[in-house]
Amino acid sequence: MLLSKLFTKTTKESASDSSSINADLLTRAGFVHKTMAGVYSYLPLGYRVLRKIEQVVREEMDTIGSEMFMPAISPIENWKKTGRDQSVSVLFSVSGANDASKKLNDSSYILNATHEDVITPIFQHFVSSYKDLPCAAYQIQSKFRNEARPKSGILRGREFRMKDLYSFHVSEEDQVHYLHAIAKPAYTRVFDRLGLGDRTVIALASGGEFTKEPSVEFQTKCDNGEDLIFYDSKSDMYYNKEIVPCKAPKWGDPNEEERPREDVVGEGIIGVEELAAFLKVDKQSTTKTLLYESDDGRFFAATVRGGYDVNEEKLCAVAGCDSIKLASVAKVKEVTGADVGYAGPIGLPKDVVVYWDDSTQGRKNFECGANKTNEHSININFGRDVDEPKEFYDIKVGRDGDINPSTGEPYEVCRASEVGNLFSLGTRFSEGFGFTFTDQDGKNKPVYMGSYGLGTSRVMGVIAEISHDEHGLIWPENIAPAQVHIVPIAKTTDDEAYTEAMKLYEGMQKKGIECLFDDRIDGSVGARLADADLIGVPKRIVVSPKTLEKGGVEVKIRSTGKEEILALDAVLGDKKK
Ligand code: ATP
Ligand code: MG
Repeated sequence: MLLSKLFTKTTKESASDSSSINADLLTRAGFVHKTMAGVYSYLPLGYRVLRKIEQVVREEMDTIGSEMFMPAISPIENWKKTGRDQSVSVLFSVSGANDASKKLNDSSYILNATHEDVITPIFQHFVSSYKDLPCAAYQIQSKFRNEARPKSGILRGREFRMKDLYSFHVSEEDQVHYLHAIAKPAYTRVFDRLGLGDRTVIALASGGEFTKEPSVEFQTKCDNGEDLIFYDSKSDMYYNKEIVPCKAPKWGDPNEEERPREDVVGEGIIGVEELAAFLKVDKQSTTKTLLYESDDGRFFAATVRGGYDVNEEKLCAVAGCDSIKLASVAKVKEVTGADVGYAGPIGLPKDVVVYWDDSTQGRKNFECGANKTNEHSININFGRDVDEPKEFYDIKVGRDGDINPSTGEPYEVCRASEVGNLFSLGTRFSEGFGFTFTDQDGKNKPVYMGSYGLGTSRVMGVIAEISHDEHGLIWPENIAPAQVHIVPIAKTTDDEAYTEAMKLYEGMQKKGIECLFDDRIDGSVGARLADADLIGVPKRIVVSPKTLEKGGVEVKIRSTGKEEILALDAVLGDKKK
């Protein structure tokens, strides 16, 4: 590939409004272009990398399923079968963009965020007997999600690339076996081959409300990753922050003298940070109280210390229900007498159970909502203003610093990026679609499903985050946009350095070695060498009068910086050198 023919250019400017390393480097090196927030175009060099990553994924997935390709849009009716048209919060829809288009067809469609709702009816069409199962298929496709604030470059896109595989089984046992014994090892091979094996760990995560099986996340440790993972040294396992069993570190002085309770007016102040600043108290002395309605018609409250979030799955387990949702504005008003944002655990109707998280335990003079619009109670104390709870629970999302209950020590916590997620879906989709098979006993039974995602564009971003230095990107050999980057240092194309470099380039092309050739001899040498570092191809070869004088060309390994002069023949003769 001749650099002069590449329409992209490197630039000193980083991606606008982006603070992430991957967006910055990939933009400056001309690999991606931000089309809008969370939506990137993959330019020739970037697309080569993405395709190579996807090829590794494809080769491994071919060992466990068949590749297919599904549409990017689907009928809303499919999503209604499982209620996901309403429950998937990131779902986009598309419809005619103008009157003329709407006149042609005024339907709306779902822009697929994932493909369970598309693949289930396809398999339903072909699978009818236990003899057809198990089976699995995958695709590599663009996905669309209405992500709130995509700020992490290609780590989180509103449009992004994903490999998604789906498997179909006669029983949950068979699906769980497939997940652990077949899909998991295939994922491990992918991350090993992408050079991420050492940094990628398996973390247990929420399985969702339709199965008791936790989901399995592949998390790559990475400073800019959006997830926190917790290492349990006792079981040698990682958990994600949603399901990690944890205890909050104690906060406050248990011997502090009790101050008189006060109700303070703080109009419109509901956020924890804002409230703590307004009351001039530590955030940890505030209390977040949320009111929930459960699927079995109960209504209860959950409290956590300021700075923590309630984990709804843990809360469900504690309350003994299958699902919960935040109480409606009207219900909150009816029960607390106040607008949303001012609920507190004191003075609620007797039948409203309050689940206290352990993070609220042992505090003196704490704050909580006063159950009056705009009012907050301060200097609340257990035993005096509210009965000391008989039991404190773990109903929170884990935070850095939390204690592992099985060791009594703080967890080792690290940032990571979720590169893959393996799910047991139970019969959620087959029941929604009425997808059954005839079992050996002649009975009709629902099919068990699993889905297995792997974010190929996120993986590219993670590699850029991990593998770079102050000069630019450092691509592993098997996914680099090219293996060699040749820079002739010459004044004209007739100079020996140029003609020798061209010979080398042509020779390499003949051997099938992918090569970038910097034929832009009018640029400054420094800038061209800096470009080579920024683009990050594994080997840079400089051909100059000086190197020719020394008997060859200068080969520099991008990852180690090691330089050596090698004869042209030697460079050409050995692909691996
Ligand atoms: P996250 O928790 O990061 O939002 P998710 O759990 O919603 O991701 P899944 O539905 O499990 O995502 O998707 C499978 C994989 O697709 C993820 O493991 C991740 O690698 C990738 N992925 C998900 N959302 C995005 C996104 N917005 N941009 C890029 N990759 C994504
Ligand atoms: Mg996930």
